[in-house]
Amino acid sequence: MTTTTTEATGPQGGAGSLLEAVSVRPEEGRPIPDAATGETIGYAPVHTVDDLEAAIATARAAQPAWAQLGHAERSRLLHLAADEVEAHAEELAQIIAREQGKPLAGLGARFEAGGCAVWIRSAADTPLEPEVLFEAEGTRSELRYDPLGVVAAIGPWNWPALIAMWQIAPALRMGNTVVAKPSEYTPLSVLAVIELINRHLPEGVLNAVSGDREVGAAIAAHPDVDKVMFTGSTRTGREIVKASAHNLARLTLELGGNDPGIVLPGADVPALAEKLFWGAFINTGQTCAALKRLYVHESQYDEVVEALAGIAQQLPMGPGVDESSALGPLTTDQQFEIVSRLVDDARSRGARVVTGGEPASELGPRFYRATIVADIDDDAPLVAEEQFGPVLPVVKYSDVDDAVARANASEQGLGASVWGDPEEALAVADRIQSGTVWINQHGSLNPVVPFGGTKASGYGLEFGAHGLKAVAAPKVVTV
Ligand code: NAD
Repeated sequence: MTTTTTEATGPQGGAGSLLEAVSVRPEEGRPIPDAATGETIGYAPVHTVDDLEAAIATARAAQPAWAQLGHAERSRLLHLAADEVEAHAEELAQIIAREQGKPLAGLGARFEAGGCAVWIRSAADTPLEPEVLFEAEGTRSELRYDPLGVVAAIGPWNWPALIAMWQIAPALRMGNTVVAKPSEYTPLSVLAVIELINRHLPEGVLNAVSGDREVGAAIAAHPDVDKVMFTGSTRTGREIVKASAHNLARLTLELGGNDPGIVLPGADVPALAEKLFWGAFINTGQTCAALKRLYVHESQYDEVVEALAGIAQQLPMGPGVDESSALGPLTTDQQFEIVSRLVDDARSRGARVVTGGEPASELGPRFYRATIVADIDDDAPLVAEEQFGPVLPVVKYSDVDDAVARANASEQGLGASVWGDPEEALAVADRIQSGTVWINQHGSLNPVVPFGGTKASGYGLEFGAHGLKAVAAPKVVTV
């Protein structure tokens, strides 16, 4: 594809030729803004439902030969793809930092770009042998894993490239072909990583369709899609479940979260404060499994609130491509409005805004100051809903059983954390309803440890052998 976009340069080499490779001419696409400045960084193709039909037909036609290659050869090609991603990691990171807005440093855009290669390699290397289910004289039953066929990968805008890899890499490894639809807000990051991978895959195996929500809806309902890997909001997840009534596509749904954290009495607050903070503010709070409401025992409430506010006040906020930024902008205008509305509402209910609580307009239109809100009740929307931004409500409790009940009162169940003595925390973890419970940390992920939600946070697991099985058709063979 050709481009006439603005020169995209950053402090360390810039997004350069990779951005040019995926960006189309202005008259052929949609302008994609720099999240920090609003300046156009490139143009994304706007594919239609007709383009989608063609992509699915291409994927279907390419699938038998890709499956035929076998695990070892597919893994070899995936490693070459990971090498390519690593070789262009800085360019990819620059695109992510501009389009999505996360800072290059820390658990930011460079981490995301590097993580893409890590997750591809893990999908390539995870063993998945047939399982012997039953064996007796003269008979044996085995469970084997066949490819499903065509897998659709529909993703969100918050960790666009990395989440695309979580969906795409296991699907490819298992012999499926893929049609990926990035979020309409962050298509370039995803198209960029797909461009790198496709330098090493046979044609037609990995296809990208960069379109709007209508294209997403058409993928989910398409009769020739065998599996939908979806990461996004619970509301869209419900639409996809409805659509799957027609095609009976298998689903993995990684949906919204409203992760609670519980700080137990006696926790070592100075030792834990930084981890608590980053558990909530990673990617400026725009992370599915980030800490979104923190329950703190009354004996240490003030200490925790002050410690978190102190960290929030010190951290530099700025454009993702600025090496010194620790926090960035909100990615979309809509998300900026959600965050502003929730904080304004909390304030009007009498909650105490300890720090932040207002846009950082001097930095750009989508910056919102890191905000700690105290003396707030569970029924405030800032606590009850997913804020997905740089704001943490800190809620007081006096009884651990009550804190557990309040943590579980959400319809979401993605992640949760318990902070304090590890033994006590483990006992509390047993009673929490969520896909993951972290102890004295929040949000760490590992490519071989399964990840997924409960309740309205979705179903199905990603990563490791569980993730491979999720993109395969189980088949029992009895001899
Ligand atoms: P979203 O649901 O608005 O959009 C996600 C994707 O779905 C986009 O590509 C969109 O175009 C597409 N889409 C929209 N309507 C569709 C339809 N009817 N059928 C099929 N596809 C459709 O979500 P978002 O705003 O991009 O992402 C933020 C949300 O994602 C948050 O709730 C966050 O918690 C969640 N999330 C969850 C995880 C997880 O692993 N559980 C990870 C990241 C984000």
